[in-house]
Amino acid sequence: MSFDYDLFVIGGGSGGVRAARVAAGENGAKVALAEEDRYGGTCVIRGCVPKKLMVFASEFSGMVGDAQAYGWDIQPGAFDWNTFHGKLVTELDRLEGIYRNILKNNGVESFDQRATVVDAHTVELADGTRKTAKHILIATGGRPVVPEFPGSDLAITSNEIFHLPKLPENILIVGGGYIASEFAGIMNGLGVKTTQFYRGEQILRGFDQEARDLICNEMRANGIDVRLGTSVVEMAKDGDKIRVKATDGTEDQFDVVMYATGRAPNADNLGLEAVGVERGRKGEIIVDEYSQTGVPSIYAIGDVTDRVNLTPVAIREGMAFVETVFKGNPTPVDHELIPTAIFTQPEMGTVGLSEEEAAAQEPVEIYATSFKPMQKAFAGGTDKVMMKLIVSQATRKVLGCHIVAPGAGEMIQLAGIAVKMGATKEDFDRTVAVHPVMAEELVTMRQPVRTA
Ligand code: NDP
Repeated sequence: MSFDYDLFVIGGGSGGVRAARVAAGENGAKVALAEEDRYGGTCVIRGCVPKKLMVFASEFSGMVGDAQAYGWDIQPGAFDWNTFHGKLVTELDRLEGIYRNILKNNGVESFDQRATVVDAHTVELADGTRKTAKHILIATGGRPVVPEFPGSDLAITSNEIFHLPKLPENILIVGGGYIASEFAGIMNGLGVKTTQFYRGEQILRGFDQEARDLICNEMRANGIDVRLGTSVVEMAKDGDKIRVKATDGTEDQFDVVMYATGRAPNADNLGLEAVGVERGRKGEIIVDEYSQTGVPSIYAIGDVTDRVNLTPVAIREGMAFVETVFKGNPTPVDHELIPTAIFTQPEMGTVGLSEEEAAAQEPVEIYATSFKPMQKAFAGGTDKVMMKLIVSQATRKVLGCHIVAPGAGEMIQLAGIAVKMGATKEDFDRTVAVHPVMAEELVTMRQPVRTA
């Protein structure tokens, strides 16, 4: 049977574009890709990239005081949202152009419209045309979800936060995950009075408890009103403001309320049920280790499969899919020991098990230190950073590395290599310290602070 294409990709985000590019460019496959929104997907258009630029923008406020302490005669000025936003829009347009060009230059035919699955080898575009393909790859990502409650329609999500008409005077951010905690820091740094509600006992559930505690303390010290064990009961419009009634009995008014309470896979109304592609409890597409669904010609990668929802993971899944399907080299995706950064202020870099997870698994030694970094301490700052290693008592392997410090994301990329290679505590110790940097503590912690 002959098909219009060897591969039809639905979704032009990080994972879909990578798979399409490599299948076409490096393997000579005939590939098409459909995208109903902007090319680049969540990461480039409404996630990692604009978020990081906002983190950069927000960090300047703290630098002025430090610079003064170092002898610079400079005064703080106002932050102009419009200036920043204009540049941000231009940058996102530029990046979207790059993604479009990647496809074009690799001979991928792209369709700027929604595509749905009709059968195991056929997709239908929004304009009604049908295309056949030997393989279909679904890479449609995820979307923010806001729970239903009275007034929930007044909330914005991370999709809208990048394009506020003006910077609010105050904001409520609901949630305690990556997105909520990162945006609390961003907004606070930009000079917005920031409140964060989290329903549980500590933000960033799932990460190392000591790291979570430090981040939360530092966020509070930076001026964020983090209210733990607190949820919204109801919200109502009150003039230009939103009145929020909370479970702690308080009632406050906010200019903007942002919900960052998790994301759902974008797998609805894609025609999957009719062709027999199975979906899980959260609506995610169920795939095996090769990203193959129960329908052999249909694969899925990235957030729509809700495995590890990170851009570099989606990209790897895309590459492994091409290796498996187009190179005849079955390649499972390795989801173990993925280093990651959380761009809270302070930033966290982490790889491997938290102390709690490791201790539940086997006897461990904990090496940890928390101190005032030189740069801030000189300026009179009270900010603290943390370096922590979780070490197996039996094998001496470093099972987890957790860094809370400026630049922790950069540091963990490198520590991640060692941990992924199976480095032991003694391997860390054999490595000469780089002096004077914060990360030297990772190789100079001689005594465990405790066993667990
Ligand atoms: P997360 O799943 O990380 O966090 C969701 C948060 O919302 C949790 O604190 C959760 O609480 C809370 N929550 C869930 N439902 C409700 C509810 N009904 N009412 C109140 N609170 C609720 O989701 P995010 O949206 O922050 O991020 C999505 C994913 O995006 C992340 O998992 C991550 O993979 C990715 N991401 C990665 C980044 C990075 O690498 N730096 C940055 C941003 C996103 P509880 O803990 O109690 O369940």
